[in-house]
Amino acid sequence: MNIIIFGPPGAGKGTQAERLQDLYNLKHLSTGDMLRSEVSSCSELGLKLKSIMDAGQLVSDDIMIELIGNCVSQPDCENGFILDGFPRTIPQAQALDDMLGHMARKIDHVLVLEVDENALIDRIRNRAKETGGARSDDNEEVLKKRLGEYRAKTAPVLPYFEGKGLLRKIDGMMPIEKVSAKIESILNIEPPKKH
Ligand code: AMP
Repeated sequence: MNIIIFGPPGAGKGTQAERLQDLYNLKHLSTGDMLRSEVSSCSELGLKLKSIMDAGQLVSDDIMIELIGNCVSQPDCENGFILDGFPRTIPQAQALDDMLGHMARKIDHVLVLEVDENALIDRIRNRAKETGGARSDDNEEVLKKRLGEYRAKTAPVLPYFEGKGLLRKIDGMMPIEKVSAKIESILNIEPPKKH
């Protein structure tokens, strides 16, 4: 089972993706985490990525498509994966379809966490507090830019998947447990039995 989770920054994509990873034995692929790990390596590419991410902008499609292409073909994605943070643009969505088509695989579910934008700044402030400011883009000024990118470039990707009949919208303002329960009812499968 291959899943995409969409939602603006702070919508709870990572939290839900982690739960699905454990419950259904899927690989959680967070492009944000992958990029942050490259940034912390202080490589030349990492330094370039940092300045883009700190400005709340999107990294180029070419880099992102190559990154995800390398991941989904790995053995740890054989049982399925959850994409968190990808695709973020229409060219990324088309490239994903192409690469999965070549592997005779497909996306099975597209989940959208819908959140009141006014609540996001509080969530991002809380995340910054809880993580001791681990993410340099978790502040009000950059959040506004990230939201602008989401509206302009990522929201237009949703009709692409709606046209394929895959899109399911979820009220991301509910408590975490309720959001998880709703997602599980949408996926409508029994978690694999632990041996
Ligand atoms: P996230 O952790 O998903 O909020 O991502 C943090 C930052 O990484 C974003 O604000 C972008 O700068 C960059 N990023 C993550 N995923 C992508 C993507 N699919 N396309 C372009 N930029 C991305």
